[in-house]
Amino acid sequence: MSSSERPLDPSTLVVACARPAKERDAPLNPPIVLSSTFVGAAAPIQGERVYGRYTNPSWEPLEEAIAELEGSSAPGLAYASGMAAVSAALSLVPIGGTLVAPVSAYNGTLALARSLAEQGALTLRTVDPADTEATLEALPGADVLWLESPTNPLMEVAELRVLLAAARQHDVLSVVDNTFCTPLRQRPLELGADVVVHSATKFISGHSDVLMGLAVCADPAVRANLAARRTLAGSVPGPFEAWLALRGLRTLALRMDRAEASAATLAERLSVDPFVKALRYPGLPSDPGHARAAAQMSGFGALLCIQVGNDAHAAEAFVDALRLITPATSLGGVESLAERRRRHPGEPDVVPENLVRLSIGIEHPEDLWADLHGALRAAELAAGASVD
Ligand SMILES: *Cc1c(COP(=O)(O)O)cnc(C)c1O
Repeated sequence: MSSSERPLDPSTLVVACARPAKERDAPLNPPIVLSSTFVGAAAPIQGERVYGRYTNPSWEPLEEAIAELEGSSAPGLAYASGMAAVSAALSLVPIGGTLVAPVSAYNGTLALARSLAEQGALTLRTVDPADTEATLEALPGADVLWLESPTNPLMEVAELRVLLAAARQHDVLSVVDNTFCTPLRQRPLELGADVVVHSATKFISGHSDVLMGLAVCADPAVRANLAARRTLAGSVPGPFEAWLALRGLRTLALRMDRAEASAATLAERLSVDPFVKALRYPGLPSDPGHARAAAQMSGFGALLCIQVGNDAHAAEAFVDALRLITPATSLGGVESLAERRRRHPGEPDVVPENLVRLSIGIEHPEDLWADLHGALRAAELAAGASVD
């Protein structure tokens, strides 16, 4: 990079970052290091690898890559899953402290926060993150502000710059779950966040074949705290999984461009379908979150949610009638997935019964449209038949 003034585009960085030094006979890709321990000396330990629960050379390129992409000078931290990273970031709430979190967000995060609140470990204040005033009012006296934007699965957009700046003013540590956007579409540290977490299981790995979590911290002291806790909690990834996540990251820009373009096309068509009663996609100019999303995201992503017909039955009939798109939880893979979120007993009841989350993959958009359109007509027919 030193030879040019211009910083590399993120779509180049995902390909070029975190490679072994270009020396004769060096491997192009970082090797997978299968070793639980590392040779040491009798002298006191000083920044050595020591043991496989402290670090592993196979995590380091991925940790370097996510830091570079999120714009942090300190390396990221890799975890065994997105929830391991979420759990680590939630542990930044001191015992007896207060967490401000969205009323609807990734349900694993909320379930963990609620269980910590039930144990008396923290006080949970839930807010509608799209309601800036209400979120600001919840900040005084809090310890950590947790945000997702857009939220999973309601696709609500939070006013990140305003909320993150206010958190800083109130000495509230802020965490943004950036799984939906990836650093290619939103960079929360630049918008004022202290910590970014990812389920790298999703877009970053991109092939629905690995569980992996990542955290990136602006402040080296927060990073050191999380690194020490990771070693003690043992929430560490395997070397092969870290290698797979980095391999997935290499194509993130291409996958995201394709999936996002298809999501935009499908959102437009779905928004005028008579059996789609509501739709949220921040890329639609008519979406309530559009202006905010345009101000803080560099693209609108590949997720959308629709409300199908009038009830859970209509949404179930729709999902069951899909032929190409797979009915499954998760998101961000090359293959499109659909899920009626309320099938999970723990999903908050602010999520409508007939809401289906669509994760658009990289298939041809016309094949996806044919599948969606066909399944909507089948569900519409079934709903009509049950009325008669
Ligand atoms: C999936 C997901 C998680 C949890 O990640 P796992 O890798 O499944 O543990 C956290 N946050 C969001 C937004 C997610 O979609």
